[in-house]
Parts: sequence; structure tokens; C-alpha cells
Amino acid sequence: MGAKMTDAPAPAAGTPLRLFNSLTRQLEDFVPVHPGEARVYSCGPTVYNYPHIGNMRAYVFADTLGRTLSFKGYQLTHVINITDVGHLTDDADAGEDKMEKMAAEKAQSIWDIARHYTEAYWADVKALNIRQPAHWSIATDYVPQMIEFAKAIADKHCYELEGGLYFDTSTVSDYGALARAKTDEGEGRIEEVEGKRHAADFAIWRRTPAGETRQMEWDSPWGKGAPGWHLECSVMSEALLGFPFDIHTGGIDHREIHHPNEIAQNQAHSCSDASGARIWMHNNFLIERSGKMSKSSGEFLRVQLLIDKGYHPLAYRLMCLQAHYRSELEFSWEGLGAALTRLKRMVGSIEKSRDLALKGKIRKGHENAEHLTKLMLDQFGPAISDDLNTPQAIKVMEDILGLGSAPISVILEMVGWMDTVLGLNLLTLSRADLRIRPKSATITETEIEATLARRKEARASKDFATSDKLRDDLIAAGVEVMDGDPLGWDWRLGA
Ligand code: AMP
Ligand code: ZN
Repeated sequence: MGAKMTDAPAPAAGTPLRLFNSLTRQLEDFVPVHPGEARVYSCGPTVYNYPHIGNMRAYVFADTLGRTLSFKGYQLTHVINITDVGHLTDDADAGEDKMEKMAAEKAQSIWDIARHYTEAYWADVKALNIRQPAHWSIATDYVPQMIEFAKAIADKHCYELEGGLYFDTSTVSDYGALARAKTDEGEGRIEEVEGKRHAADFAIWRRTPAGETRQMEWDSPWGKGAPGWHLECSVMSEALLGFPFDIHTGGIDHREIHHPNEIAQNQAHSCSDASGARIWMHNNFLIERSGKMSKSSGEFLRVQLLIDKGYHPLAYRLMCLQAHYRSELEFSWEGLGAALTRLKRMVGSIEKSRDLALKGKIRKGHENAEHLTKLMLDQFGPAISDDLNTPQAIKVMEDILGLGSAPISVILEMVGWMDTVLGLNLLTLSRADLRIRPKSATITETEIEATLARRKEARASKDFATSDKLRDDLIAAGVEVMDGDPLGWDWRLGA
């Protein structure tokens, strides 16, 4: 197959990249800290349970950002952390440790819980064609560094309570600027910890209560205990990316508590007003019609559930890319079905081009390679450089796919380039890959094909009674027969 997945920057690399910075609430030109490089840190999952597809939207977004930076020719270093300690059931330092709670519920070791759900998360990362970051940083690997960091800021910025070491948010200038929250009250927070000086103050070190033993605990100058959740990201981002680095990402909920707390720690540690990252970016939420997506209410929407129902995971990736990352996106099965159909259409068109190319059929036309390259230069590059306008970028790609009279090899090469950003595996997916057997299906593909062949014979001999009966049998087995489908699908399995 002629198209190459190029590692050189595509011709569109010239358009300046503009990104929306949550700190300034403005679009800004991307100017790297280290010329030619892009260093990105993404807050990773808390591995106490399976990620839901909303969580995975955050990583499709971070991946699209990383792919765009590579496409623009920057040498990317991406870090995603794995939170296996410290995250409480309430982001604002209230409630129980999510990991300890799940381990107790399942009567398993916390380390086993962490391993199991980390692997499940990585499986979703793979299914959604999210590129591997340069580092998966595991929080529990960095506890000694977290203690050193806490020691460095303890005197000037922290105070001790029975529960451990707390950060005094009044000791840094402009606490909560990222959230635009009214500082002292720290909107929406519950004063759960007795003795806290300000509602927004948060735990740096959580001391194990006397008489208790936690599965995960370490010695520290403040007694045996575990680090507060926010500490890990300040420590690991600096250790792996330096200070400051370029871009920090996370879901929009992190704009309110977790990231303001990271920034406060960074300012304290660097004795400056530097937030740690030059640009803070946040993806908006995937929601359900009934409201916020959760792991406990209703059907637990995991990537594996989509696959079990017969949807290829890349249809979900496309569904994410069809919306701008800063817009809320409502999940529906109809929406996912529409994204799958769109993906089938793209893959079908590429397959057709490839077949023609293999048969040596060169389409004659007016457009030439130069024209196509220019089209991409003029439209795809600017779309993706405009704060990752993926909905527009996809339309441009479809326009290029639809250029019926263009040279096939050039089209495939252009698609290859564009797909380095979109990550839909367009050059390798086949239509057959997109037809996934729902878990509930009671009939195999071979049986379906055999029944359809018999039905074809019946119809050819005008035996419509048999043909209708065979069709009804298929319907009873959950198979929808699709005569004359414009995409050329003969049948579909319903979930
Ligand atoms: P967690 O495992 O809870 O720390 O979340 C992992 C990532 O998913 C974080 O960046 C969250 O901000 C993000 N996130 C959580 N819920 C959603 C959602 N419904 N839609 C998009 N991102 C989400
Ligand atoms: Zn984080």
C-alpha cells in the first residue's frame, strides 16, 4: 500500500498552534519552554475501578493534543500518571481513600486492585488507539520525592493537625485563580476536617490514625501515613518534565480543586508565582442524558460494554473527535451508531481507493498532487492548529476522500498524514474489522452467511415464501438483513 505514515512533519506544520489556556481563559500561541520540544503532563486515572468512557474522553483529548504537537514537528514528551494512592472519595480532601475503600470491599490487596485496574485502563488506551506516553508515572514510586517536596514547603506553607500536614492556601498569592473561585470559601467544599484554617486548605500528608494500619503507608516526619492526592502531580511533573514545562491537561473538574492545589504547591516550592505549566488545558465532560456520568448509577459505560454491544471502540474515538474538546458531549447509543456509520463510510471509501490502486486503475482527473497538498495545507493544518478543531479537521479529511478524480496514491498519503492526528487507523482498518459480533449474539457469521446464500438462491428461483422465512429466522436470531444498503452491508447484528 502506497501511503506512508510519515514521521517528518506534515506540510501543514507552518500554521501557528493556538491553544486555549484555562489560566487566562484565552487562546494563546504555543511557545515551547525548550525550543522544538513539547512537554505535556496529563492527570491519569485513579485505579480503584474501571474507567468509564467519560474518563477515556480525557485521554482521547490528551492524545489528540500530543498527536497534534508531533504533527507540528515538536519533539513530544508526554507523561500520564497512575494514581494508586491518595485520592479520596471527595476531591476536596473529604471522605475515604478510594483505593483503600475498594480493597476493603473486595477483600483484596490494594496492590492487586491497582494492578488489575491499571491493566484494564491500558486495555482501553490500546482499544482507543491512544499513543503510549513516554512515561506512565506511578504515584507510589514517588513517595520519597513527595516527602522531600513536603519537607521543603512545610515550615512556610503548612500546618499540622491531628490528621496530618495541611497546606495553608492563604500563604500563596491568588490561590484558586485557575478556578476563578472565591478564594476563602473555596466553593462547594465541606469543612470536614476540624482545625483547618481555611475551607480550601488541603492535605499534603495524611497521618494514619492511632491504632489503625493502612495497607499503604510510609514513614514521614509527620508520622506514618500516605501523601495527599495533589502532591503526586506536582512532584512527578517536575521530576519528569522539569519546571516549568509546557502543557498540563485534565478534565474540567480538575480546574476547580486538583489543579489549583497543584499550582499552590508549585508556587510554594518554587518560591515564585509560577504555576508549573505554561498552559493548562481542560476537556469538558461526557455526560449522559440523565446528567453526570458515574460508575455506580445505571449501566456502567465502559469501553468493553461498547464492544460487547457490537460497536468498534474507534467509533467512540470518532464520536469524541466530532465534538470540540471544550464542549460538553452527550452520550447516546444513537450518536455512537452514527459515528460508527461515519467511520464505516470513511473506511469503505479508502478500501475502494486501495482496491483500485491494486488493480492498477489510475483515475484520470484534473486535480494533482500539488493541489491536494495545498488543500490540506490550507484547511486541515489551520483547523487542527485552531485549538484542536477536530470537527472541522474531520470534515476536511472527508472532503479530500471525496475528491473522486484525484490520484489515489496522493489521497492515501494525505489520509495517512491526517490520521497521524486523528488516530482512527484509517489506513489499516477494514470494513470487516468494524463489524463486531455483539456478546449477546446467538448466531455465528458463518451461519449468517450460509443463510443469506440460501435466501439468495430462493429469491433467484422466485421462492419468496422460503426467502421470507429465512429472513424471519435471521431476525429471530438478532440479525437485521440490509438489502440495498448504500454502504454495501448485507446484514447487521443488533445488540
Ligand atoms: P479520575 O480517574 O476520576 O481521576 O478521572 C480521570 C480523568 O477523567 C480526569 O482527567 C477527569 O477529569 C476526567 N473525567 C472524569 N469524568 C469525566 C467525564 N464524564 N467526561 C470527561 N472527562 C472526565
Ligand atoms: Zn493530577
